[in-house]
Amino acid sequence: MQLSIDLTGREVLVTGSDHAVRQAVRRYQAAGAVVSRLSTPQGAAHDGPLPERPFLVAAVDDGQPGWEPLLARCRTTGVPVAVEPAAGPAGHVTLVGGGPGTTELLTVAAVDALRDADVVFYDRLAPCGDLPLLTSAELVDVGKRPGHHKVSQADIEKLMVASALDGNNVVRLKGGDPYVFGRGGEEVAACVAAGVPVRVISGVTSAISVPAAAGIPVTHREVSHMFTVVSGHAPLTEKEHMHLAGLGGTIVVLMGIGTLHQLAAGLRKAGMRPEMPMAVVERGYRPGQRTTIADLGTITSAAAGCSNPAVLVIGEVVRVAEANSTHAGAAADLDRLAASLLGS
Ligand code: SAH
Repeated sequence: MQLSIDLTGREVLVTGSDHAVRQAVRRYQAAGAVVSRLSTPQGAAHDGPLPERPFLVAAVDDGQPGWEPLLARCRTTGVPVAVEPAAGPAGHVTLVGGGPGTTELLTVAAVDALRDADVVFYDRLAPCGDLPLLTSAELVDVGKRPGHHKVSQADIEKLMVASALDGNNVVRLKGGDPYVFGRGGEEVAACVAAGVPVRVISGVTSAISVPAAAGIPVTHREVSHMFTVVSGHAPLTEKEHMHLAGLGGTIVVLMGIGTLHQLAAGLRKAGMRPEMPMAVVERGYRPGQRTTIADLGTITSAAAGCSNPAVLVIGEVVRVAEANSTHAGAAADLDRLAASLLGS
């Protein structure tokens, strides 16, 4: 169970060794609490006087024996005790897939890693709006925009490694999944080369979730039993167009707005029929989400005003979304009819 309590000005006693409590202290301070510290059960090394009767005791499980009598005394006198795990071992990197941009599609593992972080290096497409609520870590924007890199990939890797070697728990928060056009493999290799422990938390990739946000299933029984995810950051070759057109499944293109024209022309030249349905889904799960549906022959003009970030979907599955939205529209019509009948 989770409760939200306004801690502004409340006295919170955080118990546990300095290393184990560092994130908890930052979190309570960020929430506006007046934090005091007790680092051993014998009462050693606390900063300033202890509160007579704290509003809350945050008992960080640092593995030291001897805390229980103190915590039991707090409980019997009616002071709530919130037990929480210690901060993880210092000096490692966690690559976290942040999903397509909404906090709701972060995994539980991603939320835990953010909570345990000292520093977060995040990308533009990661869900960064709510980060101050999810972590008390230092937040560093290393976001790249198409065309110009804010911080070069080599510098991101150096920053991550240096911060971990300084003893920080580093989270590298990336949009979608770290291993889908996310340079996750390179970042893992940089950590391994520097002897920094590294792990990867998979994320919800935009390749599947952004079409879903527009009601498009990438596979659908008897419509498409495969999907291919392609990067459109550079035009595909004639051979690649041929192979894609020959597969007969759904084609999902990321980073494809700049090469949309070449893609549509290339697939048509490779024999795909101009009536093949195609969708451009911009800003999935974000304000201003928009879907443009056309076909291979008309998409270039229909999507002229579309911009990044966007996912392109080519295939009969696009019709499934259209059919479902017609049903949704019919349901809305029924609702309106029912409301007007009830009102009359
Ligand atoms: N690792 C990411 C992809 C990184 S490449 C993942 O697994 O999702 C960046 C591309 O992802 C963008 O150019 C766009 O094509 C797509 N993308 C990511 N988030 C998106 C969103 N919210 N809406 C539309 N497209 C998105």
